[in-house]
Amino acid sequence: MDPLPTLSVDDLKAGIRNVPDFPKPGIQFKDITPLLADARRFSACIDLLAGPWKPGQVDVVAGIDARGFLFASAVALRLGTGVVPVRKTGKLPFQTIEESYSLEYGTNTLAMHVDAIRPGQRVLLVDDVLATGGTAAATVRLIERLGGKVLEAAFVIELGFLDGRSRLVGKPVRSLITY
Ligand code: AMP
Repeated sequence: MDPLPTLSVDDLKAGIRNVPDFPKPGIQFKDITPLLADARRFSACIDLLAGPWKPGQVDVVAGIDARGFLFASAVALRLGTGVVPVRKTGKLPFQTIEESYSLEYGTNTLAMHVDAIRPGQRVLLVDDVLATGGTAAATVRLIERLGGKVLEAAFVIELGFLDGRSRLVGKPVRSLITY
């Protein structure tokens, strides 16, 4: 296959479908499936997420359940690292550590295997959307409890009006597309 060209942010943005009132009234859901299905956009997106990092600078990529996995594993391949999953509670088979965070109604719990990250490893955190930041902040706590160092939290999309960055103070945060 010919090398795929790098696309502009506007080109990437054209691969995001806004779905109003999903999964409930008032939510503007950012659907990344058209971007994923388009080889040029998907490849450009992975180039941009991996872009700042040279091989050897990142030890492992952590992807957040579930759409984060699709991006994290491709970024890991680009960087020549492994990838570890941050999953919803009850899904991982081995011994885990867990972190909970508040949602509008109730709480959510994320888990990682106790041996997913070794002390001192440099971790690139990847997810599709940064919204209120609760998910990413809980993931940072998990990584740090395992002794990992979060190099950066990288997102395809950031919903700037929800100020998720304020939950990640002290961590470098980068997003490709901001609404
Ligand atoms: P939050 O913890 O509020 O930052 O939410 C982040 C998580 O929820 C990410 O894993 C996203 O996949 C998902 N998410 C939150 N809001 C949206 C949205 N408007 N569109 C798509 N996904 C969203």
